[in-house]
Amino acid sequence: MESTIIEPAQIDADENFPLFSALEFYDHEQVVVCSEPELGLKAIIAVHDTTLGPSLGGTRMWQYENEQEAIRDVLRLSRGMTYKAAVSGLNLGGGKAVIIGDSQSDKNEAMLRAYGRFVDSLGGRYITAEDVGIDEKDMEFINMETKYVTGLPKESGGGGNPSPVTAHGVYMGVKASAKKAYGSDSLEGKKVAIQGAGAVSSHLAKFLAKEGAKIYVCDIYDEKAQKVSKNTGAEVVDSEEIYGLDVDIFAPCALGGVVNDETISEFKFDIIAGSANNVLDDEETGSQILVDKNILYAPDYVINAGGLINVATELEGYNAKRALDKATQIYDTMLDIYHHAEDNGTTTLAAANHLAEERIRKIGDIHRVYTSESRLSGHTGEMYKAK
Ligand code: NAD
Repeated sequence: MESTIIEPAQIDADENFPLFSALEFYDHEQVVVCSEPELGLKAIIAVHDTTLGPSLGGTRMWQYENEQEAIRDVLRLSRGMTYKAAVSGLNLGGGKAVIIGDSQSDKNEAMLRAYGRFVDSLGGRYITAEDVGIDEKDMEFINMETKYVTGLPKESGGGGNPSPVTAHGVYMGVKASAKKAYGSDSLEGKKVAIQGAGAVSSHLAKFLAKEGAKIYVCDIYDEKAQKVSKNTGAEVVDSEEIYGLDVDIFAPCALGGVVNDETISEFKFDIIAGSANNVLDDEETGSQILVDKNILYAPDYVINAGGLINVATELEGYNAKRALDKATQIYDTMLDIYHHAEDNGTTTLAAANHLAEERIRKIGDIHRVYTSESRLSGHTGEMYKAK
């Protein structure tokens, strides 16, 4: 069969080719399109910003409706990683990759290893990890072709499951939020509603119970909620009722988009602080409505940064205590954000974004000072590493 070849002139003729506008809009440095048709590989790696260090973010495998949707997702997610690393005080930039395809049926060793070689070709500008549709076994194939991989299981020298560190960071964020809202970070006697009884929340519930909080938990799988209840004394509630509970703190630890037009009117909480990503259905209006309702919102990408902190620690040679210590700093970061928001009359989300951007700008400026080696660290393809 004859293949259709698009002449370069045809591509050039379309001045509105949207990719560069998208890159400019999100302020990306580089996007790499990886193609191996024989192996079924269609991947896009987005390096958003490497001012602070090599870009890091997981590889997601997803059956996107079309290529534009995949591009939009990888650009949005990689930009989010820049902000998360920056506000968390990590010397990492933001990156992300997507492989277009069905993770149940389209994966194979050769395809994943070919993808690993594309990651390797970036010489350390992008470090990858697991994400939706990519599991530990897949990471092992990718790791056969590149050392720029993190988030490996403990048996392979990695930090293993990040959930306990994420939960510790969320706990610190909840305490900082209580400090801001009530003047004391003690959670004794505080009523906390946890949505989801999964990997993060089961650890979080233990921290909260130890401090004497009264916990309410829900899950779409009753047995998971019952297990948390058994371990912590939490009261199991119906998933549908969680938004209207008369409690002090709401900890969303399941899904994104749970603060939306429908749920928000039910809220009686003082604080929203949990591990879930993309908690606000609409970031701008959602965060402002919460301010208007006098509900303190812990920006999701700050409070749930323990997972990223865990994989960043792995790059330096994993040490569980160091990861937990670093996640403890989420307490101070959160208070900085709350004070900044109050002083400047902004939402907490806007304050977090501002602090992230400020750190990138200021650390970017120090690179003007010449030193023989340090200015090169993390910028020459060397693995990000404690010397
Ligand atoms: P998980 O899958 O182990 O737990 C999520 C739980 O939520 C599951 O038990 C699920 O049944 C439940 N759930 C789903 N929909 C629900 C609903 N409508 N009502 C009540 N419960 C519902 O996931 P996890 O690893 O604990 O992560 C939880 C959230 O935190 C996710 O949004 C994840 O993206 C985010 N997060 C996790 C980490 C980490 O280290 N695991 C790091 C950063 C962010």
